[in-house]
Amino acid sequence: MPLRFYNTLTSSVEDFQPIQDMVVRMYVCGPTVYDYCHMGHARSYIVFDVIRRFLKYRGYNVIYVQNFTDVDDKILRRAAEMNLTPLEISRRYIAAYFEDFDRLNVMRADYYPRVSENMDSILDMIKRLVEKGYAYESDGSVYFSIDRMTEDVGALSHQSYEALRVGARVEVDERKRNPMDFVLWKASKPGECIYWDSPWGKGRPGWHIECSAMSIKLLGEQIDIHGGGMDLVFPHHESEVLQSEAFTGKKPFAKYWIHNGFLLINKEKMSKSLGNFFLIRDVLKQYPPEVVRFFVLNTNYQSPLDYSDAALEEAKKGYARLQNAVAEIQSRLGQPDGDPSGQDVARIAEESRAKFDAAMDDNFSTREALAEAFDFTREINRLMSGSLSHDELNQIMALYAHFSDILGIRWTAPAGEDVLSSELLKLIVDIRQAVRKKKDFETSDLIRSRLKDLGITIEDTKEGIKIKKS
Ligand code: AMP
Ligand code: ZN
Repeated sequence: MPLRFYNTLTSSVEDFQPIQDMVVRMYVCGPTVYDYCHMGHARSYIVFDVIRRFLKYRGYNVIYVQNFTDVDDKILRRAAEMNLTPLEISRRYIAAYFEDFDRLNVMRADYYPRVSENMDSILDMIKRLVEKGYAYESDGSVYFSIDRMTEDVGALSHQSYEALRVGARVEVDERKRNPMDFVLWKASKPGECIYWDSPWGKGRPGWHIECSAMSIKLLGEQIDIHGGGMDLVFPHHESEVLQSEAFTGKKPFAKYWIHNGFLLINKEKMSKSLGNFFLIRDVLKQYPPEVVRFFVLNTNYQSPLDYSDAALEEAKKGYARLQNAVAEIQSRLGQPDGDPSGQDVARIAEESRAKFDAAMDDNFSTREALAEAFDFTREINRLMSGSLSHDELNQIMALYAHFSDILGIRWTAPAGEDVLSSELLKLIVDIRQAVRKKKDFETSDLIRSRLKDLGITIEDTKEGIKIKKS
């Protein structure tokens, strides 16, 4: 069975056929970096990480782009509160993003475009939309004009133009010709400390335009997969479709749209603005990254997922069941070779791999894929009551390695130790930063070289500190 998944654009499960042979151009909406990421963000980026991993396993050359929204009202507000510049705020939380998601074993994207670094492309796109008659200036701001696109409005969110128009009327803005028009460029307000020059005066981009401009710049006019949480379908993604297609004259902007369901807490979406969130870094003080990934992936990506201590405890137990089996196999591999089991281990592993892959081929059903990992583990635990040769143990290990490659759930570090040692490592790196700030380079170099002796290298990069373990 070929890979199939749900496409929001067509509201149906479709066979996957990229635009160009085996290349997959994929864009996922990134966070607005004005604070630490919470578990809702973790869900979204773990889901797309697994989708990317599976596409790679299926032989596709995936080009993966995830943006950072580093210019935004919330960042401006936060900067004013903290007496910092907006870009100091966003840089700080981008560094924190990498700390959190490296720990969660989310593969790094091929590109991380930021609004502040792509202003030329954003401005070029807005200028062209104005020239083509799809956008107009009003009071120093620029709006996308819906009037020429009314037939296309609602194509992604499956709502009628009329229904959307009624909804939009609630919020009256005199600068707009049609209440459904949306802002591409916001005129600078008095006292705002971050702005760029434009043909319409000083200002900054609206939210939607950044993803179209950066996606087109890095991936071309049409892409294969565009992803994000389901709250982004309307208006963010709907606006992206309209402005991108108006700009390029090509349809569709993205062939497949994938949206993850919400992480909920007490039946509400976990979000910064509702104040009902748990930060990734706080959760990682209690649970290792493997348990967090297990928790996220034990529910299929479109379904709602309830966050609770009980659910994380449950995930911890589930992960431990798989991990104990792996630990036992590894321990036996360290002992002298045993007699073969007399059973067809290669066939058992092959069949299990086929079932695991079939679940993933079917709309990335990680829940069913994990269920297969449990069935396999039950079978292996049964086999381990007798003798197994190293050859057989290696065949079993190869399948656990496959589960791990796709789901990004590692088996190695034992749960308890991992949390403590990674917290200790973070503490050491923080101390090094503190002494560097005080210009005590002797101590900071000493810390770096002692860590190096332990096989841990730390690099100071633009995105913050990178920690590599050999
Ligand atoms: P934001 O920074 O709020 O724009 O969010 C960045 C990404 O995380 C978007 O794709 C959101 O849809 C996603 N996201 C935020 N909160 C949640 C949540 N509670 N559950 C699932 N995804 C979320
Ligand atoms: Zn976006």
